[in-house]
Amino acid sequence: MKKDKDNKFYVYRFRLYPNAEQVAYLDEQMSYNRFVYNFFLERATHLYKTHNIKFNYYEFKKILPLLKKGFPFLLNANSQSLQASLKNLDTAFQKFFTKQADYPNFKKKGVYSSIVIPQNFEIKDSFINIPKLKSAIKVKFHRKVYETVKQVSISKTMSGKYYVNMLVEKFAFTPYIPKKALNVSTGIDLGLKDFAIITTGTDFDNKESFKIPNPKYLVKSQKRLIKLSRQLDRKVHKRSKQDKTTPSKNYIKFKNKLSKLHEHIFNQRKDFLHKLSLRTVSDSQVVVLEDLNIKGMVKNGNLSKPISDVSWSRFVSMLEYKASWYGRQVFKVNRFYPSSKACSTQDCGYVYKDLKLSERFWTCPQCGVVHDRDINASINLFLEGLTVLKNTPGTAELTPAEYAPAGYQNIGISRHTLRQEAYAFRRR
Ligand SMILES: [Zn+2]
Repeated sequence: MKKDKDNKFYVYRFRLYPNAEQVAYLDEQMSYNRFVYNFFLERATHLYKTHNIKFNYYEFKKILPLLKKGFPFLLNANSQSLQASLKNLDTAFQKFFTKQADYPNFKKKGVYSSIVIPQNFEIKDSFINIPKLKSAIKVKFHRKVYETVKQVSISKTMSGKYYVNMLVEKFAFTPYIPKKALNVSTGIDLGLKDFAIITTGTDFDNKESFKIPNPKYLVKSQKRLIKLSRQLDRKVHKRSKQDKTTPSKNYIKFKNKLSKLHEHIFNQRKDFLHKLSLRTVSDSQVVVLEDLNIKGMVKNGNLSKPISDVSWSRFVSMLEYKASWYGRQVFKVNRFYPSSKACSTQDCGYVYKDLKLSERFWTCPQCGVVHDRDINASINLFLEGLTVLKNTPGTAELTPAEYAPAGYQNIGISRHTLRQEAYAFRRR
């Protein structure tokens, strides 16, 4: 099995609005899962501490059905969820054994409340059906899910809100441009470490933020490029205009290799930018970005900077022309807008004037919220977009753009590659 689980899947998170009966059911199921987790953790701890026997998922999995005999209340539980709970414990132990995490902790009520539902769920319109529950639970979708949902999990926050996480396979995105105007705003902060930091949603309570790293394949190609350039330089060739040296066969060979790689990288980057811009435009009515001049003014010794600059401006222009095809709007906030410095907490609005570039995190002195600098910026841009949505008369009736299949041909992107290639969407 390939160990690229993190790259293969993406999780969408939506707020759930269960009624009283559904709340009771979910809480009950969560308690069963917690029970199973804690039961096996106790067993495993005993075996490990007294006999030095390591956690064995398959051995415990065999015991799971027997457990129901000893604890008949578990008969009301969804067996697959119980198994998933055990699997979670397995993951926690594997992380501990590989020194990536501390020893697993017991799950306390109110702190850990979640259930995984690996199958037999059904998502229809704005509802989800889950096993053993007769009525469907209301889901607030703030974005369209194009992919097939592989698995869902439901969690409860400490403040008592319910969310559903939908696990989808990446690369499975099929281009689809909704014909109707969407009530969705998207704020994008362009970065160096990550290509973009995005916040998207319909209102303050229904939004999500995620970072889109520079794609791994690009980073890899760029490393190869640097290596190849160095190798090329070591081959016999002219060192100056007056130099009469005849380039060696090897030099010519490497030079060809290098130009092919340049072309390859150019295409990879173009592909990535096309997909990301198309995805963004199809998912949102209003897209708000910072004016790139702000970024340009940033002095930075980072080598990837010039590359980012080029990618950023190409990305923005792609967003703009695709938005015009599909009846979406792209706005740039001017350089005086303090997107990084303003606190994005609802009803706070404190402006931290002395924010330094080196400060990746800051605490708002007015409301006490700790901000990830980039996420905070993208939330502020998203909020700007919401204002635009509200203040645009007849937003709901915005003329839906015609679906433009010809446009696809023009930009040289086939449906095939769209489906195959990666979206680097990743939750932070
Ligand atoms: Zn604040």
